[in-house]
Amino acid sequence: VKGKAKKAAKLANKVESAAVLGAGIMGGGIAYQSASKGTPIVMKDINQAALDLGLGEASKLLAGQIKRGRATPAKMAKVLNQITPALDYAPVKNANIIVEAVVEHPKVKAQVLAEVEQYVNEQAILASNTSTISISLLAKSLKRPERFCGMHFFNPVHKMPLVEVIRGEHSSEETIASVVAYASKMGKTPIVVNDCPGFFVNRVLFPYFAGFNGLLADGADLAQVDKIMEKQFGWPMGPAYLLDVVGLDTANHAQSVMAEGFPERMAKPNQDAISIMFEAKRFGQKNSQGFYQYS
Ligand code: NAD
Repeated sequence: VKGKAKKAAKLANKVESAAVLGAGIMGGGIAYQSASKGTPIVMKDINQAALDLGLGEASKLLAGQIKRGRATPAKMAKVLNQITPALDYAPVKNANIIVEAVVEHPKVKAQVLAEVEQYVNEQAILASNTSTISISLLAKSLKRPERFCGMHFFNPVHKMPLVEVIRGEHSSEETIASVVAYASKMGKTPIVVNDCPGFFVNRVLFPYFAGFNGLLADGADLAQVDKIMEKQFGWPMGPAYLLDVVGLDTANHAQSVMAEGFPERMAKPNQDAISIMFEAKRFGQKNSQGFYQYS
């Protein structure tokens, strides 16, 4: 394994500057993490309000670190200085790696990836932070599919250690090695996985959520399930709270993708807690109401 890792490290391109497309929850988090670990990053969005929000989030995280004595105002200024907000592609031109983190819509992602590919140099690596869309499918919009793969972060980016690096049909070893190296430089733990519905994490999580759905259908009390999983079993949180953090809209979409991808193993029951919450517009912490009430 050591030999393999060394060989992969040799293949990796140096990442001296990066870009992230989309300044939402994930794009903002990726920009903060990259900058705070020393890789300058351009954060591009189509919307000035989103850029302001993304920068605001980074400032909040840094202010929290100063409060806890883990950063100084000088470090805060330095990190913020490494994030360049942009509304057009010009500043993205020289990035070694570009992480696409726009809305989870195949057509929008395909268009954005094809657009940015025209602006960057031929050596640049493109990666998508998609949670559910096939990397090989997105690669079809590109002229250089070998320089593209998945780079799936988890929310909140600054806290969650894992990054799934997804190997598409045409992703080259150099591309995978470069994205692995960048994720490591960001202080994350990358794992390389094949392109399939749910990649790795959702293939583990959704059967767990199906078990939770089954318990509720059999009359279990959701707060009690959470309490047992958290306090007695020792996980950081139970399934209902976790779904509120992930977002019931996101979970509902991912559940459909899993059901479609694995019709025999992951078929959707007629009435399940995730779709009931989604239809009731109880999206979780993002709109202050999910399985629990947050205001
Ligand atoms: P979000 O809605 O918070 O942000 C999306 C951003 O993309 C918005 O700021 C929007 O203005 C911007 N955008 C839209 N079209 C654009 C374009 N053409 N060019 C540049 N920016 C554009 O979404 P999010 O939750 O940050 O999710 C982004 C991606 O990350 C999605 O693919 C999602 O599936 C994935 N993801 C989300 C989570 C999560 O928990 N939120 C976790 C892992 C992966």
